[in-house]
Amino acid sequence: MNQLSESVKFNAFMQRDTNFDGVFITGVRTTGIFCKPSCTARKPLKKNIEFFDDTAGALQAGYRPCKRCAPLINGLQIPDDIKVLLAAVEKEPEKRWKDWQLREMGLQPSKVRRWFQKNYAMTFHGYSRLRRLGQAMQHIKLGDNITKSMDYSGYESESGFRTAFKKYFGNAPGQVPEQNPMYVNRISTPLGPMLICANDDGLHLLEFVDRRMLETQIKRVAKYSKCFFVPGEHKVMQQVETQLQAYFKGDLKEFDLPIELLGTDFQKQVWNALLDIPFGETRSYAQQAENIGNPKAVRAVGTANGDNRFAIVVPCHRVIGANGKLTGYGGGLWRKEKLLEIEKNT
Ligand SMILES: [Zn+2]
Repeated sequence: MNQLSESVKFNAFMQRDTNFDGVFITGVRTTGIFCKPSCTARKPLKKNIEFFDDTAGALQAGYRPCKRCAPLINGLQIPDDIKVLLAAVEKEPEKRWKDWQLREMGLQPSKVRRWFQKNYAMTFHGYSRLRRLGQAMQHIKLGDNITKSMDYSGYESESGFRTAFKKYFGNAPGQVPEQNPMYVNRISTPLGPMLICANDDGLHLLEFVDRRMLETQIKRVAKYSKCFFVPGEHKVMQQVETQLQAYFKGDLKEFDLPIELLGTDFQKQVWNALLDIPFGETRSYAQQAENIGNPKAVRAVGTANGDNRFAIVVPCHRVIGANGKLTGYGGGLWRKEKLLEIEKNT
């Protein structure tokens, strides 16, 4: 993922360089603990450390978070200067950013680049270009013509704008459907980045970006909501982020979010039954089948659980096998294990 050499990472770690927090994670083999680069704990020998791209990688490799630098909790936080930059982008989404403007804001373009690569898997310029396209999309939706909407995209030529638009949204800018937009964004969590889809009707999808069948799930959202996707912010996303942060800190046991459960009647029954499982507890598939008054439908309940599009907040991770085995999880068994562990320790 990130292109830093081992020696750059090693030096940053030894110097406790806060600029590299959120860029990589260090695991210490002898203690089994992982740290942020800036951790103030005594530094281990070089031969005993290994590097990971993120906290998810370190957790997957079996490391525990350091109590001193708390990389899970702090990993969620967006650095203050990046927050200022994100706010500036939202204030003026059509702006074309230049490196000197970042420097003028007191930001190091290289740090900004690393952070966006890390959290959005694209450069800052790629991010702001997507944001401009999203802005143009909204103006087209509001009835502006293409040439005028192009002004908002920051593209200088109409053909460049059309090409970029089609590439990202799958349809030419002139063929925007009538329905409401669905905003799409990525948020970072200690267990890895998540894709989030929301609009005025509520939250429609919250999934780890490496979840199996993510594309299928996105297609289902498109089918049920009849929306087209636009990159951008929506107020529901901030609610989700705030509550997830509290959850990972151990301060929140019940989510209060406008979750839009769209599916068959049976699926909705199964998903609602998931929402009834209390924090920190688990149920078997058979118990869940019984809870919806359909004790024979154990297998169908399992399938509907797997089709849940809201990781963590619709707690399908709380359903385990009758023998206590964790069985399957769309986001990977290691995440299911971590979520249950977090809830147990809270
Ligand atoms: Zn530490």
